[in-house]
Amino acid sequence: MTILASKLDIKTASARHVIGAGDYYLAPLKRGQTLRILDVEGNQAADTLFFNADDPSERYSAMDTIREQAQVYLSAGSVLRSNLGNPMLEITADTCGRHDTLGGACATESNTVRYDLEKRCMHACRDSWMLAIAEHPEYGLSKRDITHNINFFMNVPVTADGGLTFADGISGAGKYVEMQANMDVLVLMSNCPQLNNPCNGYNPTQVEMIIWDS
Ligand SMILES: [Zn+2]
Repeated sequence: MTILASKLDIKTASARHVIGAGDYYLAPLKRGQTLRILDVEGNQAADTLFFNADDPSERYSAMDTIREQAQVYLSAGSVLRSNLGNPMLEITADTCGRHDTLGGACATESNTVRYDLEKRCMHACRDSWMLAIAEHPEYGLSKRDITHNINFFMNVPVTADGGLTFADGISGAGKYVEMQANMDVLVLMSNCPQLNNPCNGYNPTQVEMIIWDS
């Protein structure tokens, strides 16, 4: 775990967006800009995808990121790589300590398999992503671009024998993760509405997206 506080002053931020649980954020982040995701009330999961803003077929790749850093968790110093191996963003500050990129996002289909058939109608991250790309055709994203993601603030420990578990969160109110863009990217974040596992404490709350210019 790497805890590294930010050197940035909140008073110099150029934009702040509050995203309610179950809502999405889809917007460009320019090369050199820094994005902070703030876990306002604690124990929230921010399910996030990144795309090259000039060519969305280049996108965040969990596999390339994990292999190149030889580490399954993301934290300060992690370079978030694309499916072409290019550095898209680098995590420059982190007061949570680690973030998951193995667990994937919740979907209505997986909710019915994991929990109960009656969960079919529950809101899920995949729905939020699909709504985001449907409401923003200007970015040229399609269903095919919805692939493996990062779950910021989510705790999915890998056990010694390789097991994967969705555990209670290690984040808390006011904790944040910050990353600087190495290229112009699109940020697509679903603020997770999951109610069936402890990834957001069974109590989805808001997150804040805060941006600094370079
Ligand atoms: Zn979710």
